[in-house]
Amino acid sequence: MSWNKPLPNVDADNQPFWEGLRRHEFLVFRCKRCGRSYWPVAYCRACPPEPFYGNMEWVPASGRGRIFAFNVHRFAFHPGFADELPYVYALIELAEGPMYGTNVVGCEPAEVRIGMPVEVVYRDVTPDGDAAPFTLADVRPVAG
Ligand SMILES: [Zn+2]
Repeated sequence: MSWNKPLPNVDADNQPFWEGLRRHEFLVFRCKRCGRSYWPVAYCRACPPEPFYGNMEWVPASGRGRIFAFNVHRFAFHPGFADELPYVYALIELAEGPMYGTNVVGCEPAEVRIGMPVEVVYRDVTPDGDAAPFTLADVRPVAG
């Protein structure tokens, strides 16, 4: 399969998330003290200050959430997306709390609604010229 779209930037903070997707595990960054979930943050905003990452751990999440906001893209901002138009990019409020931005698949753009329950669906892609596989996590509608 030829992948002709940009891929997310992987850095030291979010690398465990992308490694999780490779295993088809959807992870969130959770505070060991109070259980609040985040994307990578230096420390929990609700607990007393700790050394960076001192109280935080990556844990599997449900992969479920609801559509918080969305946009139907009818023009390609990158040539690689031209054959997918129109497509939906949405902000998902995960069941664990954090927001997650991704594509909505498995339904027509006109069917997407605010509050619609969704679940993560994994998409294994391989960038051209890169032997390392990469996995993205879209969402699709699910019975709520
Ligand atoms: Zn906390």
